[in-house]
Amino acid sequence: MIDLSITDIIDKAKMCRGISSDEAAELLSVSNQKDRSELISAAGSVRDKVFGNKVFIYGFVYFSTYCRNNCAFCYYRRTNDLSRYRKTEDEVLALSASLKDAGINLVDLTMGEDPVMCAGGYRELLGMVRRVRDEVGIPIMVSPGAVPEESFSAFRDAGADWFACYQETYNRDLFSKLRLEQDFDNRLNQKIWAKRAGLLTEDGMMVGLGETLRDRVDAITKMGSLGCEQIRAMTFVPQNGTPMEGMKPAESDDELRSIAVMRLMFPDRLIPASLDVEGTAGLKTRLDAGANVITSIVPPHMDLAGVAQHELDIDNGHRSVAHVLQMLDGMGKRVATNTEYASLLKDLRAWNR
Ligand code: SF4
Repeated sequence: MIDLSITDIIDKAKMCRGISSDEAAELLSVSNQKDRSELISAAGSVRDKVFGNKVFIYGFVYFSTYCRNNCAFCYYRRTNDLSRYRKTEDEVLALSASLKDAGINLVDLTMGEDPVMCAGGYRELLGMVRRVRDEVGIPIMVSPGAVPEESFSAFRDAGADWFACYQETYNRDLFSKLRLEQDFDNRLNQKIWAKRAGLLTEDGMMVGLGETLRDRVDAITKMGSLGCEQIRAMTFVPQNGTPMEGMKPAESDDELRSIAVMRLMFPDRLIPASLDVEGTAGLKTRLDAGANVITSIVPPHMDLAGVAQHELDIDNGHRSVAHVLQMLDGMGKRVATNTEYASLLKDLRAWNR
């Protein structure tokens, strides 16, 4: 129990020095409209104080939908019978180049744990990363799933700036029901090993798949205290063909409160507004809640999928860079230049040491 009222906690948070886990729990549980509006508005103002009106935009290249794992929540789980694709190195290069030309700050090279890409110590993936670095010259995030400890330096040397690996929950019991046949500590260590190798790290939690409010607080606290420079919350979307397909889809409100609390707890972190949950219709609410990175920008007509929403807003071009830029204009925000993003990465690396 804490003595402070919601308004006291929010006033303290506005000073950009963070809040405690107990205070975060109080804020996550706000239910009346007035407190909720105060929370959201404080998170937006803390983001603006730290980052100004600029946001960062990331292109998403989900280059292989093959996966050896069988996560209960995921459409691309091994046992789901669906048509899958694996893009060639040249295709990934061309996609990355077109995203760079369109003005994005980073390309996120994502795959399921595709046995072909994992073979030979990630030989193919490392070659792809090297070519994107050398021939396109854009900051790179890799999201290859869980990898052995000795692979992290190879990803760094090939040119990756970031390593993303979402725990989804820090409740071990829940983890074992979601990430079937996977090891909690091995996944947790991904963030630690990546940081040790000098990579920037992203972690993420999922909202609405059976976790308690305390689980959410624990996940936010843990992701931040691990030192992950980018942390995210995304609403669970039930997927056809999975054991969780019958679950009731959650509203996005818990995700928005989680984003706002993350911002108040860790004012200087990058926090994504993902287009992968509600498409561009959900962009403004996430930015209002304190997010400062737009992720899951997917070029249209390239036969690329999203993760939680594999088709939403892709082929109508709404997830394209041009459309997102147009939307930002109307919100008083601007995209960071590549020079600004490079300078941010330099600062984050200095902080990481
Ligand atoms: S969440 Fe990732 S690791 Fe799990 S089944 Fe889906 S693609 Fe594979």
